[in-house]
Amino acid sequence: MTTTERPLDPASPSIAGLLDAARSIQPDTVAIRRRIHRQPEVGLDLPKTQAVILEELAKLGLEGRTGAALSSVVAVIEGGRPGPTVLLRGDMDALPLHEDTGLDFSSEIDGAMHACGHDTHVAMLLGAARLLQERRAELPGKVLLMFQPGEEGLGGAKTMIEEGLLEAAGPTPPTGALAVHIGTRYPTGEVHLRPGPEMAATDVIRIWVRGRGGHASAPHLALDPIAVAAEIVLALQAMVTRRIDVFDPAVVTIAQITAGTTNNIIPETVFLFGTIRTVSEESRAEVRAGVKRVAEGIAAAHGATAEVDLEPGYPVTINDPAFTAFVMDTARSLIGDEQVVELKAPIMGAEDFSYVLQRVPGAMAFVGARPAGQDPATAPENHSNLVVFDEPAMAVGVALYAAVAIRHLTGS
Ligand SMILES: [Zn+2]
Repeated sequence: MTTTERPLDPASPSIAGLLDAARSIQPDTVAIRRRIHRQPEVGLDLPKTQAVILEELAKLGLEGRTGAALSSVVAVIEGGRPGPTVLLRGDMDALPLHEDTGLDFSSEIDGAMHACGHDTHVAMLLGAARLLQERRAELPGKVLLMFQPGEEGLGGAKTMIEEGLLEAAGPTPPTGALAVHIGTRYPTGEVHLRPGPEMAATDVIRIWVRGRGGHASAPHLALDPIAVAAEIVLALQAMVTRRIDVFDPAVVTIAQITAGTTNNIIPETVFLFGTIRTVSEESRAEVRAGVKRVAEGIAAAHGATAEVDLEPGYPVTINDPAFTAFVMDTARSLIGDEQVVELKAPIMGAEDFSYVLQRVPGAMAFVGARPAGQDPATAPENHSNLVVFDEPAMAVGVALYAAVAIRHLTGS
């Protein structure tokens, strides 16, 4: 299928040979990736990573436009003929943890590591930009390159949209969007995605349970918030299983409990810190209401109070079904049917590409990069201090970005 309804122009570039082309530039892709990997930057302000991107774009004759509130880069590949716009996104930020892989290009920054593979995303998107720029004369339309900081919890994509990302290639917004995410959950070179909800929405839970402090030997004279908080933690699990449709999954985890100072004092307050993950706005609203109701109700039943704060995180990442079928079809023609897998269920992690997908029909595709010989059950995952991404997978990502862009623009 195609997402554009224009007749196929025989002069348009084809995707045949793109994987070979991606493999032929692999040494450069690897060099860019390792350069960024050595100097990871966390958050929204990533000046060194931004400089690498601007430098590499300049080599291609492309001018990168930088963000105001964050160190993003936007560039536009202008096809030689008129046509639609397609958006390709690579996120840029690292994570705040120490790298323990022992790789000879390990992080040189203490306490920062590209443990989610966003260094590979930048390198893959630059590789795709090179292949597309080489073919631009025959390309009908534009390719909007989105290099994004602050994916890890800071919503960099949302800020880039606010700063005009979707109008950067002209008044007509993109008609398709692709993000690629590398991961060790799948063998090297496989492509995994699904139509509809692919990743979860997040909400941060903060609950303060307040009682009355006192002597641990005389709880009847105090009002013990720890017993109340314990009841809340368990009741939240019962709420999820009894109140939420099992076919519309939700996760509630209280991941941190803070209270007390020693063994003979009943404290005044317990702090509960956790997360909600849902894959539909319906169950998200139900769970949010349920957490508040259960916490406040149980506290009230014991004469205590619960103050509940639910901070909204990223929305559900929803792949457009038609665009997803198109990406899967494109991936099959690049790497073969067996290498392309439709995910059976959403992944309960979250992604701020969801903000782009709220505005543009598109998809996020996972590219497997688990090194051969690693046991799937124990291979270090994304966000691990030991995770190693198998670099040959990057050629698949480069080819997929470029092929999806070409096919979307040419309607082939
Ligand atoms: Zn990531």
